[in-house]
Amino acid sequence: MPIAAPKRRATRRVMVGSIPVGGGAPVVVQSMTNTDTADIAATVRQVAELARAGSELVRITVNTSEAAAAVPHIRDGLLRQGVQVPLVGDFHFNGHRLLQEHPACAEALDKYRINPGNVGAGRRRDEQFGFMIETACRYGRPVRIGVNWGSLDQELMARLMDENGRSAQPLAADELMREALISSAIDSAAKAVEIGLPAERIILSCKVSGVQDLIRVYRELAGRSDHPLHLGLTEAGMGSKGIVASSVAIGVLLQEGIGDTIRISLTPEPGGDRSREVVVAQELLQTMGLRAFAPLVTACPGCGRTTSTYFQELADRIQSFLRNSMPEWRERYPGVEALNVAVMGCVVNGPGESKLADIGISLPGSGERPVAPVYIDGERAQTLKGERIAEEFQALVVEYVERKYGRHA
Ligand code: SF4
Repeated sequence: MPIAAPKRRATRRVMVGSIPVGGGAPVVVQSMTNTDTADIAATVRQVAELARAGSELVRITVNTSEAAAAVPHIRDGLLRQGVQVPLVGDFHFNGHRLLQEHPACAEALDKYRINPGNVGAGRRRDEQFGFMIETACRYGRPVRIGVNWGSLDQELMARLMDENGRSAQPLAADELMREALISSAIDSAAKAVEIGLPAERIILSCKVSGVQDLIRVYRELAGRSDHPLHLGLTEAGMGSKGIVASSVAIGVLLQEGIGDTIRISLTPEPGGDRSREVVVAQELLQTMGLRAFAPLVTACPGCGRTTSTYFQELADRIQSFLRNSMPEWRERYPGVEALNVAVMGCVVNGPGESKLADIGISLPGSGERPVAPVYIDGERAQTLKGERIAEEFQALVVEYVERKYGRHA
């Protein structure tokens, strides 16, 4: 019996283009490009790849005049390919100037990310922040007030340290750091509302690179604000370290109902696929029972009872086949994303796990008869053997999908 997904914290709902964030909407997956935004063709290509992989919002950096000038062309290029994913502009240092000089960029973007630590200092900070918020008001766009430990507002930090020094019960250095992050986000949101931006157009984030810090910061932030929260571990790192650190930090918070949109900030391996961060985000949400994106394969890790890599290859083949089939299946077979397939290595756990899946196969381990029973909806349905087990099992999966999720079903 599946365990119910955790209850989500109540927040306002913010619309980013056509995508609702918060207010009970499903947790949204987002990603960010790493192309030079001024390179229109490369950016269109990568945004399209991320969107096709399932990213529901895509952020692009807008750091130069050339990048800002490219944004409307990127939007047009995507529309020509039928890609309608909302685009988020990431601004630091010169966002006020770029938005002023490139109104078509302000118009083409669906959301602006503003980092309060990077909008200038002193009076200019307020003016520049104010201008960006006024631009959001003028174009009816939401903003993410995205605070980052690496670029924390130094004036705010200095003020808090000063106050802390005079306090009878001063905070420890790490507590003060967390307080500075949270205050920066909450105070900036209040300022934006004062300037005229409706509270329903503000998303907050406070990113840090340590798992325990992130959990503490967001717990506190969630208790002090009703804006939707963007979760992400910044500078999570490469490969398995980045995946583990992000998943555990975001997973703990999601389990507590905190978080309305997530990004897994993976450093791609050289030549690696940028879309991996989207797949990891989807798998995190799906394995937690919060959303379903593509059928999942339950596979055992294999052990000394498996005589070859055959069952690993079959598990990989089936997972890739299911994921690659999804663009077409999503249209043809509503609900197929919840399909559960098992590929198991031997008789120890194979039949049991296969019975729990919608369709599962238990391959023969070493010393077992060379036959592979297939279980469908908990019942032993067929036994495969010979050279074509992989092809035959794949055909049975397709048949099952057609029968269970086809429109006539
Ligand atoms: S199901 Fe069999 S092959 Fe797979 S890990 Fe368990 S004992 Fe090993």
